Amino acid sequence: MKKAIALLLCLLLMVPTGCKSAGRRYQATFLTLFDTVTTIIGFAKNEAEFQALSARVHDKLQEYHRLYDIYNSYEGLNNLKTVNDNAGVRPVKVDARILALLEFAKDMHKASDGKINIALGSVLRIWHDYRERGLADPQKASVPPMGLLQEAAKHTDIDKLILDHEASTAYLSDPHMRLDVGAVGKGYAVEQAALWLEGEGVSSLLLSVGGNVRAIGPKADGAAPDEGWGIAVQNPDKESEKSTLMTLQIDGLSVVSSGVYERFYTVDGVRYHHIIDPATLMPAAHYLQVTIVCRDSGLGDALSTIAFNEPIEKGLGLINAMEGVEAAWVLADGSLRYSNGFAGYIKAA
Ligand code: AMP
Ligand code: MG
Repeated sequence: MKKAIALLLCLLLMVPTGCKSAGRRYQATFLTLFDTVTTIIGFAKNEAEFQALSARVHDKLQEYHRLYDIYNSYEGLNNLKTVNDNAGVRPVKVDARILALLEFAKDMHKASDGKINIALGSVLRIWHDYRERGLADPQKASVPPMGLLQEAAKHTDIDKLILDHEASTAYLSDPHMRLDVGAVGKGYAVEQAALWLEGEGVSSLLLSVGGNVRAIGPKADGAAPDEGWGIAVQNPDKESEKSTLMTLQIDGLSVVSSGVYERFYTVDGVRYHHIIDPATLMPAAHYLQVTIVCRDSGLGDALSTIAFNEPIEKGLGLINAMEGVEAAWVLADGSLRYSNGFAGYIKAA
């Protein structure tokens, strides 16, 4: 039954939505990857051509989804859940794509003075459980006790994630430590899929995994001059009639947002969202949303979480010092700040 539902959810939704000289515009949607909605948009001569391509993209993303899954096991596959389950027990032989993600996440941890930490799993698990319970029974929703969070925070030392590239193993030497790659896994996987597609000669396609967007090349719809892909950034105020905060125009770049509206629950009228500042062990309170524009979707995903945890002046300094990276911040009071070059991506109304 479960399988049948999964298959049903996996069904391609093929929607031709336009007709120009370079082909029709097609869109495919999948609901079974990374716990979110995946959309693929491209131009093709016919449905069969687009269906074949989007099925390959799906399969590629599914490989990463399974490898980076911390909740489910798959027969014959050692994934991040296997690594977590073997914390303090033994090193686990893993695919090179797991080692590469973990190495990248370690680099991001170092570069951000610990503002992004995939070894924060024990702390994030507590927030996850309180959120799930709070959503199931809002009357009884509560905030995790600080003592509980602090106890879990003793087991978040990323140096205890030991990677052995020669033996192809990953090992958590602290038995209470757990990995959670929610802040980087999706973006990293999307980037790897995009690089693979580019290597396969695909020159125009848009991938969006839960709003983590990566454009391959320009929008090849035959229009001249090329307008670029129009990417709608979610309005963080979900009660507003305006669902889009702004539309960006990009070619061959990524747009990644982190926001308070993605996963949250409410206790006594206060919203508790899912991005946790490792310094306070509480949801970071600076912003409603941070959006990053850059080439590499893995970097964009990491930076969206890092910037979310940094005060505005520090975030502006960080992003403005980086080549090819721009950002927009929606502050807690709803006001907007841009990095030096961000406005250049905003599509005129
Ligand atoms: P994102 O939406 O990319 O900012 O990622 C948020 C997800 O990353 C959360 O749902 C958690 O799974 C995880 N997460 C939250 N806070 C952190 C943090 N400080 N470092 C690493 N991962 C985090
Ligand atoms: Mg992120």
